[in-house]
Amino acid sequence: MGIPEERIDRLHALAREAAENGEFDRSREYVRLARRIAQRHRCGLPREFKRFTCDRCDVYLRPGANARVRLQSGHVVIQCDCGEIARYPYE
Ligand SMILES: [Zn+2]
Repeated sequence: MGIPEERIDRLHALAREAAENGEFDRSREYVRLARRIAQRHRCGLPREFKRFTCDRCDVYLRPGANARVRLQSGHVVIQCDCGEIARYPYE
């Protein structure tokens, strides 16, 4: 595989796909691997990756599959099935 950013993009897609198929543990493995690569190469993670991964259980969040999304006073609120809640400013 190529440069770290490309590997991360690939893992991002795989994690999303696994979550869509209900393979949440597999999705977690891809997410954790991508995070390790970003850390090792200090290259950061795409914003979408950070927003759609659970900080507690590492799963990739797919609304309707394992996450709920709602809007609340100017924020996007994403709740993982594990209970973790993340809020981001609405854009
Ligand atoms: Zn979670």
